[in-house]
Amino acid sequence: MTDAPDPDDCPFPPCPRCETPVVSVTSSGPHTHTASPCGCWLSLAAVQALRG
Ligand SMILES: [Zn+2]
Repeated sequence: MTDAPDPDDCPFPPCPRCETPVVSVTSSGPHTHTASPCGCWLSLAAVQALRG
């Protein structure tokens, strides 16, 4: 057990469009989801996959 962050085990999932780690997802509608910080548009399925 360790609480040190492991750079090879990024806590944020990669964006399916640009592979930038997605820190958060902004949802402005049932079919409007935007990844942050990269700003890519995501489908609902992509959002669900990112959130596990
Ligand atoms: Zn992206």
